[in-house]
Amino acid sequence: MYFKEIIGQEVLKSRLVQTVQENRVSHAWLFFGPEGSGALPLALAFAGYILCTSRGEDDACGICAGCNKNSKYIHPDLHFVYPVNKTRAGDRDNVVSDDFMADWRSFLLRNPYGRLTQWYDFIDLENKQGIINTEESKRLSGKLNLKAFESDYKVVILWHPEKMNDQASNKLLKLLEEPPPLTVFILVSENPDQLLATVKSRCIPVKVARIGDEALTEALINKHSLDAGRAVEFVRLASGNYLKALDLISEAEDIRYNFEKFRELMRSCFKKSIPELYKETEELASLTREKQKSFLEYGLRTLRESLALHLNEPELVFLADAEKEFTTNFAPFVHGINILALTEEFSKAIQDIERNANGRIVFLDMALKLSELIKN
Ligand SMILES: [Zn+2]
Repeated sequence: MYFKEIIGQEVLKSRLVQTVQENRVSHAWLFFGPEGSGALPLALAFAGYILCTSRGEDDACGICAGCNKNSKYIHPDLHFVYPVNKTRAGDRDNVVSDDFMADWRSFLLRNPYGRLTQWYDFIDLENKQGIINTEESKRLSGKLNLKAFESDYKVVILWHPEKMNDQASNKLLKLLEEPPPLTVFILVSENPDQLLATVKSRCIPVKVARIGDEALTEALINKHSLDAGRAVEFVRLASGNYLKALDLISEAEDIRYNFEKFRELMRSCFKKSIPELYKETEELASLTREKQKSFLEYGLRTLRESLALHLNEPELVFLADAEKEFTTNFAPFVHGINILALTEEFSKAIQDIERNANGRIVFLDMALKLSELIKN
């Protein structure tokens, strides 16, 4: 991660760069800010700048051996600590970050802005919470006793340090009180209030504010190919949280997909075109169960709205016109006589999908019944 890849946070970036250039890198930092503001990407870029052996004026060089390793998160002088837990029954009790290193690297490469629950999903923690245990602190102090391998500094990034238990916190505190030479700790937290006051007091606080609207809009346009109108719409709802913006984008994609598929399916039902129905239901059957359910729930909602002949104001305005137009055209075919049977078909399909029935049969069966009901 480079500073140039960070969304917004210009003032903070210059401050961090300057600290390194003026050789004032303190041994402990606490980067804190709300979800989606980029505290972890900033810590990664800061670490990358510290470890670069040929620093540029405002960013790491991107070509030295250090940068090369940093870009894959495999630099031997960059250490990570993050919450983990047992994932399988066979795992021993004291699992540590290193047990998940390959996953962690893929997670960072996929989205360094990722949230904690996404990390838990990524390593299949199911309903368990991640923790940072005492074994972790022990291992860390062992590693830090060694000399740096390739750089002047050793850097440790602790993600969500509030997940440390008291014993682990106290061990970390000892490290912070008597730091090994040329070691930089960067704690990255969304809930600094949950940290031991003694740990916090050892760190230079760095507040990472919400991302400015202008920078976030620019990122959505450039990184996610949104047009300016839609980007502004998402930014208005995301309140400076890049992750929230990503959620909205993916939600909108789902709605758009469901809407288009529902419209196609209803048109084919109306035409009673068996080859078309077959093709469309095959496609629906190839989706994941979750997406199949989401489609059916969307259909159910649209049917009810068609009957009510009014749309609730959708949160995402850009879809409203197309949906409204379709619902208005479709509404005459949904009436008091067939609405119950229509909605029942959708509800039944949802139940069947939940029971792992064969999607091809469920969707084709539903489509054939719908085409009967819509005609009458
Ligand atoms: Zn470099």
